[in-house]
Amino acid sequence: MLRSVLRRPSRPAAVATLLLGLSWAWGSAPGAAQQAGGARASAGTVAPAPEAPPADHPVLRELAGDVSADTLRALLTHLVGFGTRNTLSDTVSDTRGIGAARRWLEGRLDTISSRCGGCLEVIYQRNMVPPQRRVPDSTEVVNVVAIQRGASDPGRYILITGHYDSRVSDVENDTSFAPGADDDGSGTVAVLEAARVLSRHEFAATIVYAPLAGEEQGLLGGKGLAAYAREHGWRIEADLNNDIIGNTHGMDGVVDNTTVRVFSEGTRANESDRTARIRRYTGGEIDSPSREVARHVARMADYVTNLDVMMIYRLDRFGRGGDHSAFNDAGFPGVRITEAHENYHRQHQDVRVEDGIHYGDVLAGVDFDYLRKTTALNVVSLASLAWAPAPPSGVQIRGAVRPSTTLSWDAADPARSPELAGYKIYWRPTTAPRWEKSVWVGDATEHTLTDVVIDNSTFGVAAVSKDGYESPVVFPGPVGAFFPEAEGGESSGGGR
Ligand SMILES: [Zn+2]
Repeated sequence: MLRSVLRRPSRPAAVATLLLGLSWAWGSAPGAAQQAGGARASAGTVAPAPEAPPADHPVLRELAGDVSADTLRALLTHLVGFGTRNTLSDTVSDTRGIGAARRWLEGRLDTISSRCGGCLEVIYQRNMVPPQRRVPDSTEVVNVVAIQRGASDPGRYILITGHYDSRVSDVENDTSFAPGADDDGSGTVAVLEAARVLSRHEFAATIVYAPLAGEEQGLLGGKGLAAYAREHGWRIEADLNNDIIGNTHGMDGVVDNTTVRVFSEGTRANESDRTARIRRYTGGEIDSPSREVARHVARMADYVTNLDVMMIYRLDRFGRGGDHSAFNDAGFPGVRITEAHENYHRQHQDVRVEDGIHYGDVLAGVDFDYLRKTTALNVVSLASLAWAPAPPSGVQIRGAVRPSTTLSWDAADPARSPELAGYKIYWRPTTAPRWEKSVWVGDATEHTLTDVVIDNSTFGVAAVSKDGYESPVVFPGPVGAFFPEAEGGESSGGGR
C-alpha cells in the first residue's frame, strides 16, 4: 500500500552513521520540507493527493507534426552551399566559408524572432582561441546563440545544440569542398527548425537554440558556450546535442529509419571524491542527471510516430567525442543524439570516388524524413522539459533496516514554479534500464513507499506541472542533483 506521509518519522541517526558514515541521506534538522508538509496537514494525518494531472499530451503530437522535412531540406541545401564551413575558413566572403555561414544562421534566427514579436535574443558568442593542436593560428570561434526567455523560471536553461562547422580528411584544410551535410549540417538545421516551431509558444524555462563552431577543431564552441553559461550563472537542466542525425544507410549494411541513439554519461564528469564515496554505498552509477535526461528523451519518442530511442549507457561513441561532453565537463547535464547506423565513408572525408566507393558528406546521404523525426524528438523533448517545473532539489532517501522507503525533497519556490501541481516517485529494480513503477503523491515534500525495501530498488522523484509535464527524474543525494551548487554539493566543474 502506498500513502503520503507528511510528517517525517523519527530517524535512527546513530544507525545511519554506523552503516554509512554518511550524513546527507538523512537530512538535517527539520527544515523547509517538513514545515511545508506540516502546513498542508496536521501532524500524523494523511493528506489525500489531488487527482494526478493528465499523462498524455496531444499538444506534443501537434508540435512533432509541425516539423517539416521540406523546410529541413531547404535549410540544409542552403547551408551546404557555403562550400566549406571549416572553422579556419574564410570569414569575409558573403557566399563561401564559415563567416558567411554564421551570418546566414544569425539571419535565419533573426527572421524567426521577427515572426514572434522579437521573442529570441540572437547573439554571437565569441571565443578567441590561441594556436593549439588543429588550430595553427589564433582563431575566433563564433557560436550563434538564440535565447527564448522563460516566463516563470528564466534562469533555468534547456539547450539544443549542433555544430555548423565542417571538415574534410585534413582537419586543417580550410578551402576544399566540405559539405558537412550530415556531420553536422543535420544537427544545425534541426536547431533552426526547433526554433521555428517552438518560438510560437511560451515556456516556463528558457530555451537556447545554438549552432556551435569549432567542434572538429576540438569541441571549441561547446567549451566556449559552457564557459559562457557558467560565467552568466545559467542553471542548465539539459543540453540536447545533435551531431549526425540524418543518415539511415549504415556501413554495417543496416537500413534503419526508425531508431535514434541517445548517449549519456553514467556518472558526473566533475564528481567529487565525496560524492563518489556516497555513490559506492547508495548506488547511482547509472543515474546521473545526464542519464535521467536521456531517459526523458526516450519517453518523449512516444510522441513521434515510427521513432524509437536506443539509449546507450556511455558518454559517446567508442573513443569519439561531441559537444555535449564539453557541457558535462563543466558540470552540466547533456546528451548526444545521433543516428542509429553511421556511414564512416561520408564522415571527415574528401569528396571523391575511389574504387567505386563514394566518399564525402554530401546531401545525398541525408534522409530528410528521418531527419524530420529526429528533429521532432528534440522539439517534443525541449517543449516538455521547458513546460515542466524544475527538477526537484534537496532529494533525500532513507529506509535502511526498515521495511519501507521514504523520499523527501525541498518545497519548490512558488514564484519560479507557479505551474507546479506536485510530484511523482519513480522506482525500478536496480538492474532495470528504465523507470518501471511510479506513484503520484500530490504537492507533498515527503512520501513513504510502505513495504518497499530500499535495498532492492532504485528510486527517484520528478516534479509535475498542472498540465502534466514532468521534469526528469532525480536520483537522491549529490549523485543525482541537477543543480548541485545550489544545494552546496559538488564543486564547480569549470576547471576541467
Ligand atoms: Zn560532428
